[in-house]
Amino acid sequence: MLEVQDLHVHYGVIEALKGVTMQVEQGKIVSLIGANGAGKTTMLHAISGIVKKSSGTIQFLGEDITKTKPKNIVEKGLVQVPEGRRIFTGMTVYENLMMGAFLRKDKDGIQKDLKRCYELFPILNERTSQDAATLSGGEQQMLAMARALMAKPKLLLLDEPSMGLAPILVKEIFSIIEEINRNGTTILLIEQNAKMALSIADKAYVLETGNIVLEGTGKELLNSPNVQKAYLGG
Ligand code: ATP
Repeated sequence: MLEVQDLHVHYGVIEALKGVTMQVEQGKIVSLIGANGAGKTTMLHAISGIVKKSSGTIQFLGEDITKTKPKNIVEKGLVQVPEGRRIFTGMTVYENLMMGAFLRKDKDGIQKDLKRCYELFPILNERTSQDAATLSGGEQQMLAMARALMAKPKLLLLDEPSMGLAPILVKEIFSIIEEINRNGTTILLIEQNAKMALSIADKAYVLETGNIVLEGTGKELLNSPNVQKAYLGG
């Protein structure tokens, strides 16, 4: 579904990605883990068309999107949930969700997906008319995920959904990610929480200072001594 080939990204003289190659197969959950500054966010921004690539290619559903504009990438069904939530404050929960559907014209489909979001995140249904700024951190994360779902993604890119959340909420968010996947959406998950990210992943990659240094099934990486030492505190 998604094919990244030998991707290089520079910020001035800093090379943040040094030839990354990775694939996301349709229907799967793929996790990309790595420490602070490894290049995880750069990778997501490169895929969603927000940062310029120095070289390499990105294909989505067989089409080259290396130079495609972010808006057109979203329209193709590749949708990002940004790090730090970035919900629209000063707007209600409902209005935030509708912003997610901004590029869609299928009114019936939008209503159907709104209903599905409220089923998936009942708390958002309770808070539908509340200013998004007044939501807790966990609720804001849920809103950011629901807003992305309103864009009807085929592939959902999640940037550190566990960041700043209490362990119990992290568990809840991850089980919702699995449910979204079971409902047919492919997931690319970027995480520092290696344990959770690997435990739900069909396939996973370890990124270190701009290079993929390890790949395998989630289970393989959970059992890898190198991963345990570097990312699982063992
Ligand atoms: P974190 O988990 O801390 O967010 P990350 O793995 O997402 O880290 P990136 O944010 O992709 O890492 O950063 C990769 C490297 O590129 C880092 O060394 C960072 O300092 C650098 N970098 C990121 N954005 C910029 C920028 N706009 N200008 C210059 N350097 C940048």
